[in-house]
Amino acid sequence: MTAPDTTVVPHWIGGKPYLGEPVPSEPGGEKRIGHVVNPATGEVSGDVAFADAAVVELAVATAQDAWPSWRHASIAERTRVLFRFRELLVAHDDEIARLITAEHGKTHADALGEIARGIDVVEFACGVGDLLRGGYSENASTNVDTYSIRQPIGVVAGITPFNFPAMVPMWMFPVALACGNAFILKPSEKDPSASLFLAGLLADAGLPDGVFSVVQGDKVAVDAILGHAGIKAVSFVGSTPIARYVYESGTKAGKRVQALGGAKNHMIVLPDADIGAAADAAVSAGFGSAGERCMAISVVVAVEPAADELVGAIRERIGGIAVGPGDDPATDMGPLVTEQHRDRVASYIEGAAEAGASIVVDGRRHELVAEGRGWYLGPTLLDNVRPDMDCYRDEIFGPVLAVVRTDSYDEAVRLVNENPWGNGTAIFTNDGGAARRFQHEVEVGMIGINVPIPVPVAYYPFGGWKASLFGDLHAYGRDGVAFYTKGKVVTARWSDPASRGGDGVQLGFPHAGRR
Ligand code: NAD
Repeated sequence: MTAPDTTVVPHWIGGKPYLGEPVPSEPGGEKRIGHVVNPATGEVSGDVAFADAAVVELAVATAQDAWPSWRHASIAERTRVLFRFRELLVAHDDEIARLITAEHGKTHADALGEIARGIDVVEFACGVGDLLRGGYSENASTNVDTYSIRQPIGVVAGITPFNFPAMVPMWMFPVALACGNAFILKPSEKDPSASLFLAGLLADAGLPDGVFSVVQGDKVAVDAILGHAGIKAVSFVGSTPIARYVYESGTKAGKRVQALGGAKNHMIVLPDADIGAAADAAVSAGFGSAGERCMAISVVVAVEPAADELVGAIRERIGGIAVGPGDDPATDMGPLVTEQHRDRVASYIEGAAEAGASIVVDGRRHELVAEGRGWYLGPTLLDNVRPDMDCYRDEIFGPVLAVVRTDSYDEAVRLVNENPWGNGTAIFTNDGGAARRFQHEVEVGMIGINVPIPVPVAYYPFGGWKASLFGDLHAYGRDGVAFYTKGKVVTARWSDPASRGGDGVQLGFPHAGRR
């Protein structure tokens, strides 16, 4: 694709927007770009520059130049930048939310929500002074003290998905920067503008040029990041196949990698639950952001005899969901991110019907789908879904809620534990013993008890199990600090000035003389 004469969302390198070298005139020397589309209209709103290896190289070189002085800046100095950044985010949240809605499609209120969750992490990172504290053991041996310190890694990168263009980057860079690293962000090419806005705010907050960069683009940029020896660690959030690829390629290249993948989140409803509250939760968590959340509920496991009442209550609530453009305050649920994704999600409804599931509410029949303008799909409710159906097995990532009926709690938990993903799960019950047993035996990273979307607050880490996370450390919280720092342990001997003098030569391994 050759760059047309439209506004192009640039990279951010060296504290300013960067569009790359002029387009070479020789054949085959086109500058790579992508289109940015407004999902509510289906119209191209602009273009985004796609980084090649040379752009990534420039970002890394710039970050390497900037890193030493940021690393040596005091904790107080680094924290002050984050405090100012936090104030700027609060002041500009409306503008950022508008950018997100225009490129992602989610409602303005939902976009404000993701910014608020990002701000939570910035506030957490403002406390990095406490989080970086090491330990100190006086007199571990005679006149010998031992202590631990944590130091930044260097230049690190984050690769992020389309569904949270502000929040997911803010799971990463506030903590990385607070710890004293330089950060390169590769946002999703589908909604690139929020990243630029955040870069501008960091500069306004006083972050030195080069410490934070944005390289826009696709696989070419990702591969250049994974292959660059100057990048010491990579945080990734996205679908499971790409998470696995990033984890395997990054670790093979000697990098520290945490790669968060996709999900299929189950919500178990026991017969003793408050069915009305469970239905509210299922609808909110299933259709919020059109189901394009990694913590969305996509499967409701109704333990009999709860199913009939629950399905009826969910159906009733779906009738009240207003679908429309995300910038209309009356809208509850916006369009899907692209036409291709909308059509893929719709194909699962077709497949579910063919496989024998009952279609209780069919989102393909929504009037906005027939209008053909924008990538809309109404909320869909499938009942009598079985684990062998594609609509159960695959991550659909859209407004499709599948109900699986089971006869017992044990059968319900087995479903969750046998599922290849393990991001989030929830149980709805009034039985504390059942809830406690569930939290103990379920093989999932984030558990909700009468809470459908159990995203941890910023001072607890976020992460799934199984195919939902490759690597050891979860995102943000103390795990984030551990990920973006290296540990050092110092053993020091300072003798009392009154008794100076060596211990004599000792070739044996020092020990406490137990035997
Ligand atoms: P995606 O995997 O398609 O893209 C994620 C990132 O990888 C983007 O920056 C993209 O440019 C890049 N990418 C895409 N294809 C690539 C390739 N072949 N090689 C290298 N890089 C590539 O994901 P998405 O569609 O943007 O986001 C939705 C997915 O993200 C869902 O699966 C969702 O569950 C997941 N997600 C997970 C979490 C979590 O915390 N576990 C959070 C948000 C989203």
